[in-house]
Amino acid sequence: MPHHEKAHAMRALEEEIIAFNITPELAEQANRLVIGDGNLNADIVFIGEAPGKKEDLEGLPFIGAAGKFLNVMLEAAGMVRSDVYITNIVKYRPPNNRDPKASEKEAFWPYLLKQLEIIQPKVVITLGRHSMGYFLPAAVIGEVHGQPQQVQFGEQKLTVIPLYHPAAALYNGSLRQTLIDDFLAVPKLIQN
Ligand code: URA
Repeated sequence: MPHHEKAHAMRALEEEIIAFNITPELAEQANRLVIGDGNLNADIVFIGEAPGKKEDLEGLPFIGAAGKFLNVMLEAAGMVRSDVYITNIVKYRPPNNRDPKASEKEAFWPYLLKQLEIIQPKVVITLGRHSMGYFLPAAVIGEVHGQPQQVQFGEQKLTVIPLYHPAAALYNGSLRQTLIDDFLAVPKLIQN
């Protein structure tokens, strides 16, 4: 699909989520939908949990403290944000940043899969357990972090690399180093 068609399809998806009011409780309390940001032709799509306060105000994913850490790791791995696409499983900020409910993640899941159909990335990188749980339901993050997993959804074949969430790793020395090490290994993993 040419880039302008992808952009159009992504806007249509955004409008559909709003029109169908798929998570009314979240929609009512959030300022806006945060659909995602970045390159629609990206090889890598990052998927976090849900927008936080800053993301909800500005309409962009991962622009707070966790986002700054993500940017630093991207650059250390030889990438910039405009090389990749970044989104979340849940696209409205949960009140007071509470964990997204299972029903909220479920409501957004088909739209996340549609986003991946539009972008057609080589690799999906899940950040934290909320997005990992959908792609790799049986996985334990402590055992599989940083290791590419092959999954299939209907027609779509995907390589998924589960990573720790940057917000969880930010203030935890050993997790932080594990996440950085996993991140730096990503370019090699996706070469072929
Ligand atoms: N910002 C996001 O957009 N998503 C997260 O999961 C955390 C911070």
